[in-house]
Amino acid sequence: MYFPRASGVREGGMKQQLVHWGMSPLPRWIGRRLAGSFLPIFMLHRCTDNSGRPDPRQIQAFRDCLSYFRHQGYRAISLQQLFESMDASEPLPQRTAVFTVDDGFHDQAEILGPLFAEFDIPLTYFVITDFLEGKLWSWDDHLLYVLEHTDLESIPVTLPNGQDFVIDLSLPKPHRPAREALKSGDQNRIYDWLDHLYEAARLERPDVIPDTYRPMSWQQARALIDQGHAIAPHTRSHRILSQLSDEEARREIIGSWEDLQRKVPGCSPVFAYPTGRNTDFTPRDRKIVEDSPLLGAVSTEPNSVQTGNDRYALPRFGMPTDIVDFMQYLDYIEVLKGKLRSLLN
Ligand SMILES: [Zn+2]
Repeated sequence: MYFPRASGVREGGMKQQLVHWGMSPLPRWIGRRLAGSFLPIFMLHRCTDNSGRPDPRQIQAFRDCLSYFRHQGYRAISLQQLFESMDASEPLPQRTAVFTVDDGFHDQAEILGPLFAEFDIPLTYFVITDFLEGKLWSWDDHLLYVLEHTDLESIPVTLPNGQDFVIDLSLPKPHRPAREALKSGDQNRIYDWLDHLYEAARLERPDVIPDTYRPMSWQQARALIDQGHAIAPHTRSHRILSQLSDEEARREIIGSWEDLQRKVPGCSPVFAYPTGRNTDFTPRDRKIVEDSPLLGAVSTEPNSVQTGNDRYALPRFGMPTDIVDFMQYLDYIEVLKGKLRSLLN
């Protein structure tokens, strides 16, 4: 049996030993039967370091996970194929996974596309259409850029809802509380509000998208389809749908699907909600997707897809860079843990 060494875990670590034991034939046979039908959808983001250069450790970690996936005989399908099998009322395909990539950055086309194609694994890319169009780069990346470049130790701002807020750069991850504060308030005019953020941080707002945050081109998106991948909509501007008016939410969901059909023939009618937690989209947004030609949608709530899940909010796991975590999410272990947790609660 092929068991790679875990990159992120001390060799002989308790978790690693438990997961390896759990994936040996008899426990796995029993575990899969107890877990029932499930299918993990993985979500990838960027594969660069803070300076925007390819991150070789992360890329190697993905490679190790994909080698394990192939050696163990798992199968990958596109998200569209998953929805089509649901339409045909087929049971969830087993020992199968879906891999998705969010946003549409250049490194995702240049590095992840060829890497996954090498393993014959289709990726479903969710792209922000106004980002690929060069009209904007995501408001949350502006926030990262500001925190990376400001000389200030704290940035006092007035949030779009009128509340005062101080971004404290002495915190270990200062963008997180700021991002959460911005996600939970009015997002209709968030791109105009960024002028205030830049001013408060005493920085010039860049005229063009900085290289680190550069999108893939439309041509690269079309070429990904030729490599066996899929391209799907992820709104026009990455604003948080739950904080938008009805008209703006519709424009984001339906508009991005229409943009994509014009730019990428053969694009895939599936959708991902920006940032994707269950507070980031509402039943209204789910209904806009349901009433459109889109076949279904994914969130970022971490879980495996299980029989009976809402096809307009299927859960996804962040793609781990630790192979032991990957083994756990890929197979029955995480599903069984979830079932045990809900029994105990
Ligand atoms: Zn996104």
